[in-house]
Amino acid sequence: MSSEIETKCIHEGWKPKKGEPRQLPIYQSTTFKYDKSDEMGRLFDLEEDGYFYSRLANPTTDAVAKKICELEGGYAAMLTSSGQAANFFAVFNVCEAGDHILSSSSIYGGTYNLFGVTMKKMGIDCTFADPTLPEEELAKLIKPNTKAVFGETITNPTVSILDIEKFAHLAHSHGVPLIVDNTFATPVNCRPIEWGADIVVHSTTKYMDGHAVTLGGCIVDSGNFNWADHAEKFPGLTTPDESYHGITYTERFGKGAYITKATAQLMRDFGSVQTPQNAFYLNLGLETLPLRMKKHCENALAVAKFLNSHEKVLWVHYADLEGDEFHELAKKYMPAGTCGVLSFAIKGGRQKSIDFMDKLKFVSIVTHVADAKSCILHPASHTHRQMTDEQLRDAGVDPGLIRLSVGIENTGDIIADIAQALE
Ligand SMILES: *Cc1c(COP(=O)(O)O)cnc(C)c1O
Repeated sequence: MSSEIETKCIHEGWKPKKGEPRQLPIYQSTTFKYDKSDEMGRLFDLEEDGYFYSRLANPTTDAVAKKICELEGGYAAMLTSSGQAANFFAVFNVCEAGDHILSSSSIYGGTYNLFGVTMKKMGIDCTFADPTLPEEELAKLIKPNTKAVFGETITNPTVSILDIEKFAHLAHSHGVPLIVDNTFATPVNCRPIEWGADIVVHSTTKYMDGHAVTLGGCIVDSGNFNWADHAEKFPGLTTPDESYHGITYTERFGKGAYITKATAQLMRDFGSVQTPQNAFYLNLGLETLPLRMKKHCENALAVAKFLNSHEKVLWVHYADLEGDEFHELAKKYMPAGTCGVLSFAIKGGRQKSIDFMDKLKFVSIVTHVADAKSCILHPASHTHRQMTDEQLRDAGVDPGLIRLSVGIENTGDIIADIAQALE
């Protein structure tokens, strides 16, 4: 029986049998017991499914990965310790030193640094491209050693919308997968696999958890990309893995090849696991995700409209606003709404922005977004504070830019707090 997303958020993943706990139990155990030596041997050979060590798999984290997999309409999924680990694994699972990836330039700063600095040191080159360029222009940036195309469905912090179909077509016509970070939209508002994305990544730290409680990440594989059709590009998936008893992932696991390799090889070696306790918190967040996303979007649209008509506000970026540069793409890919994050600038530059933020009462200044609690950040005085106004403008950041993550408090109260701070 297929069900709607609200039902999946409650019932997918942990499915208790007779007499088992109704709520997902926390399997707080590093290891799992077997009766015969041979039984465990078969697990190590990946010949049988089963748990043996929580760095590789744990029933609590598996149940939550399964739930997110169902929400995205994927084939297999795994949790990681953070969104950063998820993005690193998602890309590193298909490339190695000497390879190249093409990424949208409009992405989260942490991911930008991961691709542009840290992975470069590992010998993996990245070209960043303006995602609004036409497909023919983007195609010129693909090289013979390109192994993946990457983008964010809604970018953090500029909240622009990715043309997923354009990016999927670009990737597939060059025989490589499209990997997208769907953190801000969540599968409640956008399911990128339906538009051609092959791998979907999340920082579950944001809306999925939703209460600023736990760091976490998730990778979902659609199972749709046929690695064997491009075997020469992806030897890690299509030739024997000497570090794993000579297994060839595509031959042995078919559609499950990508996630099996990421687990058996990358998680084994890097160990960035999500703990069962954190997965439990994440699962609680997922149960109410559709309710919260609806409220986040309603509140953010009301706030965006209020700001847009305020005389002290210079501009507002929110794709659900009529007339926004990304409104058409938002309507296509996220008809129920985008997310609760918006950006705006008030007249008078850096100092006026600081004065405004200092006057806010419950909208709090934190380095976090996508939380039940409304929060706000001013890049010019926080994340980018060492830069002058001129340097900021050169980097494409308006010194007055304020990133507001609208929470699920009462709509009127949020607007009232912002209104009194603007006075
Ligand atoms: C926060 C964020 C990340 C990084 O996630 P962490 O859980 O903080 O490691 C990656 N991508 C996007 C879009 C994010 O917002």
